[in-house]
Amino acid sequence: MMNLSVEEILKKETFTREDLICLLKCNEQDRKKLFARSAEIKSIHVGKKVYYRGLVELSNICSKNCYYCGIRLDNKKVHRYFVTEDEVVEAAQYAFENGYGSMVLQSGERTDKQFVDTIINLLNRIKDISGDKLGITLSLGEQSEETYRKWFEAGAHRYLLRIETSNRELYYKLHPQNAKHDYDERLECLRLLRKIGFNVGTGVMIGLPFQQIEHLADDLQFFYDMDIDMVGMGPYIEHEDTPLFQFKEQLMPKDERFILSLKMVAILRIMMKDINIAATTAMQTLDKQGREKALMVGANIIMPNLTPVKYREDYLLYEDKPCINEEASECKNCLEARIAMVGDKIAYNEWGDSLHFKKRQQQ
Ligand code: SAH
Ligand code: SF4
Repeated sequence: MMNLSVEEILKKETFTREDLICLLKCNEQDRKKLFARSAEIKSIHVGKKVYYRGLVELSNICSKNCYYCGIRLDNKKVHRYFVTEDEVVEAAQYAFENGYGSMVLQSGERTDKQFVDTIINLLNRIKDISGDKLGITLSLGEQSEETYRKWFEAGAHRYLLRIETSNRELYYKLHPQNAKHDYDERLECLRLLRKIGFNVGTGVMIGLPFQQIEHLADDLQFFYDMDIDMVGMGPYIEHEDTPLFQFKEQLMPKDERFILSLKMVAILRIMMKDINIAATTAMQTLDKQGREKALMVGANIIMPNLTPVKYREDYLLYEDKPCINEEASECKNCLEARIAMVGDKIAYNEWGDSLHFKKRQQQ
């Protein structure tokens, strides 16, 4: 069969694996067509609205050893912290008072009772101070069904758990092969979260060592097949004190990783028109205007960092994380201007659950 041109592919209702690969590999000229199409789909289906999720990086204490991550258990150079409950509530108060519709609590993975109960307390307190008005996303890794259920009942309604890569073999090149890092467990967690009633988010890293374009095409298909509600994905960025750092020389240059990430966002927006897609911090790390560029090609979620500044330099998942010295209020002004520049509007005081999720609820 003759290969279709990018223009022809963009006219299709659904993409084959070959189409996805062609779009991911497309040249600069075709890229413009792809981005124009995804921008158009965004404005038709989700509008020019951007939803805020105020992010608190609760703790860098982690029981896992993912080969790519700077706060992995075996990195003994990291100074470990846990933000106090009062500080988290203060951040929630700030988010609420400034019209952020939602917040995200993210941290290293722990499953002990003390941690599970702390999260419940926090959820209760955040719900309390906001009169149940602040939406809450959790990104706290793999947990038991019971724990997910407890957190859901305490008021969390979205959960972000990246599959990291949907390819099982690649997964085990990025994680130790043991019970704590089991690909099937991670998949099962995504199913549990759906069953319990969360808006379910997942995502992958882009430009990983050993990763092929074909893997990324399969990742996009994975999001589609899992009927996912939200996606947070961004470039892989190396960190010196991790096992994957030794493969640094094999990586594609950072500007290419960034472009590939933009293409992933754009293609996904065309495939899944009504989901929420985040303009991630990792994209901003590789390009100062990375988040704005992601918004322009299809993303509709931004996560301003509300972690108290004194902890930020200890939550270094990867090198050169931006904004580690900026107070929330500085971020606010800077972001508003940046978002206005790309023609989007911040939707203040709205949860902004994905339309995709809402539609499924109505079925
Ligand atoms: N512990 C939880 C949440 C915190 S980690 C979890 O793992 O799910 C949040 C995300 O950071 C991970 O899902 C991973 O995709 C991303 N991340 C970690 N190290 C990274 C790196 N070196 N480059 C880019 N993203 C990274
Ligand atoms: Fe821990 Fe998440 Fe980092 Fe893995 S990616 S080491 S689970 S914080």
